[in-house]
Amino acid sequence: MNKNKYDLIIIGSGIVGSLIARFLSQYNIKILVIEKEIDIGMCPSSANSAIIHAGYDPRPGTKKAKFNVEGNKIWHTLVHELNIPFKKTGSYVVAINDEEFKKLFTLYEQGIANGVPRLKLLNKDEILKREPVLNKNTTGSLFAETAMVIDPFAATLAAAENAKINGVDFLFETEFKDAIIENKKVKGIITNRGKFYCNWVINSAGLFSDEVAHKFGVLMDFLITPRKGEYIIFDSSAFSINNVLFPVPSQQTKGILISTTTHGNVMIGPNAKTSEHKNDTATTKEGLDEVIKGAKKLIPSLDEKNSIATFAGIRATGNAKDRDFIVEVSKEIKGLINLCGIESPGFASAPAIALYVIELLKNEGVKFFLKKNFNPVRKATLHFHLLSYKEKADLIKKNHLYGRIVCRCEEVTEGEIVDAIHSPIPAKTYDGIKRRTWLGTGRCQGTFDYPRVIKILSRELSIPEEKITKKGPGSEIIFNKVKD
Ligand SMILES: Cc1cc2nc3c(=O)[nH]c(=O)nc-3n(C[C@H](O)[C@H](O)[C@H](O)COP(=O)(O)OP(=O)(O)OC[C@H]3O[C@@H](n4cnc5c(N)ncnc54)[C@H](O)[C@@H]3O)c2cc1C
Repeated sequence: MNKNKYDLIIIGSGIVGSLIARFLSQYNIKILVIEKEIDIGMCPSSANSAIIHAGYDPRPGTKKAKFNVEGNKIWHTLVHELNIPFKKTGSYVVAINDEEFKKLFTLYEQGIANGVPRLKLLNKDEILKREPVLNKNTTGSLFAETAMVIDPFAATLAAAENAKINGVDFLFETEFKDAIIENKKVKGIITNRGKFYCNWVINSAGLFSDEVAHKFGVLMDFLITPRKGEYIIFDSSAFSINNVLFPVPSQQTKGILISTTTHGNVMIGPNAKTSEHKNDTATTKEGLDEVIKGAKKLIPSLDEKNSIATFAGIRATGNAKDRDFIVEVSKEIKGLINLCGIESPGFASAPAIALYVIELLKNEGVKFFLKKNFNPVRKATLHFHLLSYKEKADLIKKNHLYGRIVCRCEEVTEGEIVDAIHSPIPAKTYDGIKRRTWLGTGRCQGTFDYPRVIKILSRELSIPEEKITKKGPGSEIIFNKVKD
């Protein structure tokens, strides 16, 4: 059998590609996921607001509305099956004056039309009771009980790991370059690592899904405009809330929110600025000032001195009608499914999109046979700091590496780092370790752990320390030894 021949190839291991791989891995088909980066979900699937939106925001009748509401429901089961960290917070849209309060009714009605369950309008007293630090000028709030907060990287990783243990192949640093098409039928793809043959290609390349579609000669009018969103993270010991607070949204964005995260920090953002480049994730002073100003509308007492980190994510804003998602079998090229313009609420929608892709394939005559040994459960990641004293002691007795603390702020051990390096989707970089273990995210932002993590990666991967990178080639951490 040709090892480069697959039934189906998925381009991109963001949340959409990883969940398609995971849901398809229950069937007896040979699947390859290619990813141009060194790890799964580098951006935007790991740099976003992390909210599984309830679904009141998208315009009724759009794909965004349908997939958001269905996806939200599936996430409530999936977080348990895949052992993904989550917080069932619900979410609040907070009105600050009478005019904004009127807009809450429109959002409420939109939510009802979209089929969102358990929406509730709260008056001033009710919302202030639930979130006392909120702006005292608030006039009320729309509460969506089904919204929740998730760890987006952990979710993408969990989906990919579960797909991998169920037989899906993953190739990293493997970039789609061109399509192989014969008689208007997909035959395979050309990558920087050679050719791969298949019957079906799923284009889930996120920000680059327009360029991938164009290589197949389809959706030539469809273009993605990158729009940057910047965020600030706060020290959990200095400031914490346990809610998700949105302002009243505009036509363009959901606005600058204040949210708890699954790790207990508070996060504020994002603003929305058109970017020149799809890879431009640098934060800016103007952008962060805008984020602080926006957040202070909701919590005026917010003190930016307690911030510990900033980051930015890039929205894949498409130009389809209503800025809707494109989720369709190509009419021109047989064997191609395009998933384009999957901006927010793309994370919330991803499981519903994945299941819909399977329906599309079935409608196209693809025969699916369930695997006898499919395992829908992905084992929870061990986090030392969450264990009891007794559990910690027992673990250290079994493996002394759990007794070595490498990150003091977040209490991450060498054992967890080694686990991450040898996990089903292995961590190969500093950021890969950071995202899997949450090391380096505390007050000191990695100052203590960096040299230790480099040594461990070098030892476990048998590569020189100078070759260890932060997030892939070009981000090497050590240039040369000072004393040489
Ligand atoms: C600022 C911001 C806030 C957001 N907040 C939320 C939110 O709170 N809730 C929500 O539901 N959604 C939110 N979203 C949207 C959500 O993050 C995205 O919809 C979702 O992550 C898209 O996933 P994806 O898999 O389609 O794309 P991506 O995450 O972009 O994944 C695509 C993958 O394809 C790879 N790739 C690209 N080109 C190639 C190629 N040529 N060859 C191989 N691989 C390739 C990329 O490297 C990438 O890993 C937000 C987005 C942003 C930017």
